[in-house]
Amino acid sequence: MTQQALFIIFGGTGDLAYRKLYPSLFRLYEKGYLKDNFAVIGTARRPWTDDHYHEVVMNAVADDGHESDRTNSELARKFASHFYYQSHNVNDTEHYVALRNLADKLDEKYDLQGNRIYYLAMAPWFFGTIAAHLKSEKLITDHGYNRLIIEKPFGRDLKTAKELNDDISAAFSEDQIYRIDHYLGKEAIQSIAALRFGNQIVSSLWNKEHIDNIQITLAESLGVEERAGYYETAGALRDMVQNHILQIISLLTMEKPSKYTASELRDRKVEALQNIKVYSKEEALQNFVRGQYGEDADHTQSDYRHEEGTDEQSQIETFVSGKLETENKTLAGVPIYVRTGKRLARKSTQINVVFKNVDTNIFDSTDADSNLLDQNVLTLYIEPDQGYRLDLNVKDGGQTYGIMPIHLDYHKTAAEKAKIPEAYEKLIHDALDGNRTNFAHWHEVAQAWRIVDVIREAWDSEKADFPNYVSGSMGPQASQDLLKRDHRNWIFDATN
Ligand code: NAD
Repeated sequence: MTQQALFIIFGGTGDLAYRKLYPSLFRLYEKGYLKDNFAVIGTARRPWTDDHYHEVVMNAVADDGHESDRTNSELARKFASHFYYQSHNVNDTEHYVALRNLADKLDEKYDLQGNRIYYLAMAPWFFGTIAAHLKSEKLITDHGYNRLIIEKPFGRDLKTAKELNDDISAAFSEDQIYRIDHYLGKEAIQSIAALRFGNQIVSSLWNKEHIDNIQITLAESLGVEERAGYYETAGALRDMVQNHILQIISLLTMEKPSKYTASELRDRKVEALQNIKVYSKEEALQNFVRGQYGEDADHTQSDYRHEEGTDEQSQIETFVSGKLETENKTLAGVPIYVRTGKRLARKSTQINVVFKNVDTNIFDSTDADSNLLDQNVLTLYIEPDQGYRLDLNVKDGGQTYGIMPIHLDYHKTAAEKAKIPEAYEKLIHDALDGNRTNFAHWHEVAQAWRIVDVIREAWDSEKADFPNYVSGSMGPQASQDLLKRDHRNWIFDATN
């Protein structure tokens, strides 16, 4: 259904707005979801004119486009004409008055019914002041809806996240707040629930009787690139584990929602996170491994400490792996191994669900060392590949009864992938619809910090021996040892 809304984008000249927000809004426009009754105010400090802003928006659309003629297309031009630029310093109250006047004018011009979406595409330390000013300067309308979309990082720990949440909550209620975790906008992540609850063979096996362990890998092949400034304050634990990985865990371990609605899903996910064991400091040190990349084997790539903008003595981790456990009754005792890092052998996000061995092997094993058959593994490829794989044991085709492993594979084609809406497009669409299913609730964020804070504190109390892994590897040896100690291995190994 076509929507009526005013977007106010704080940080309108920034990278996120250019690469994600403008192209996503354009795709919603192309599809007719946004039509005549929408307008966008971009704000930032730079003194841009509306004309210049239109150029920027059209360039953003063209840079994203599969069609090279997007810049000059009539549609892109028409789309860009809905954009207005307001130079604005978020700390200056006067500017909110100007912003309100423009917002009210556009509301009338485009018949927007008082519906407003405030998108904070800025550093989080500005969120509190923006939210307070939106309220005090009466940008928040009393007719229509008012929704606040905010980006990660949501705090640096539970304490700062709480402060941030208190600041925002003074102006917006929880049901008006849309906390983006763009992983939740990814098709393959949204498919987890379909796989688990739409298939009897999967749902009946999804328990501690049948699952041996779950492995989640978010591997990047790139280094820190131009994000060193941010990364030096964050590190992989805060950047990836607190949000994306714990969100994935909640989807993998939650109990079955009675219906696929935002509130049901939210409750099950909150419960799932509350069931993840919060470690003591000692347990955190035993169960979590950190790493920082060194040079590659050929010495052609720099180590992290010699990247532009990093500290030569940096203690920031570019790699984390660890073992978590849920205390929920269905999966209690099933280890959940997680891993993320930069400069690993290959970019891949995947989930491997490893099933237990059959209790008795009635066949002659081809493996002289053991009489065990290979474990069945269900793999969910999240990105860049999207698909599924199931490893099975079958007869090997010989005269005698030998067993061999095979795998059933399904991979989306490039054409299929191209049709899937990009994560930001989906999430903005959901925000317009008032659908909070794929946004993080405060209780989820808070619980995730509780889990992560202990690990951070444990690490901060000891000096790390960095660098400790070679660029292009799968991380430090200690990450392999973490599983070896449990007589297991990482399923995904891109170095083989
Ligand atoms: P950026 O530095 O490119 O843009 C920041 C924007 O804020 C600019 O438009 C700048 O003009 C504006 N700004 C800064 N100080 C201001 C002030 N005092 N008054 C008014 N405007 C001011 O940052 P970005 O990469 O676009 O990221 C924005 C937010 O999104 C951050 O919180 C970041 O962590 C988050 N985020 C970004 C990405 C991404 O891909 N870029 C991904 C995930 C999350």
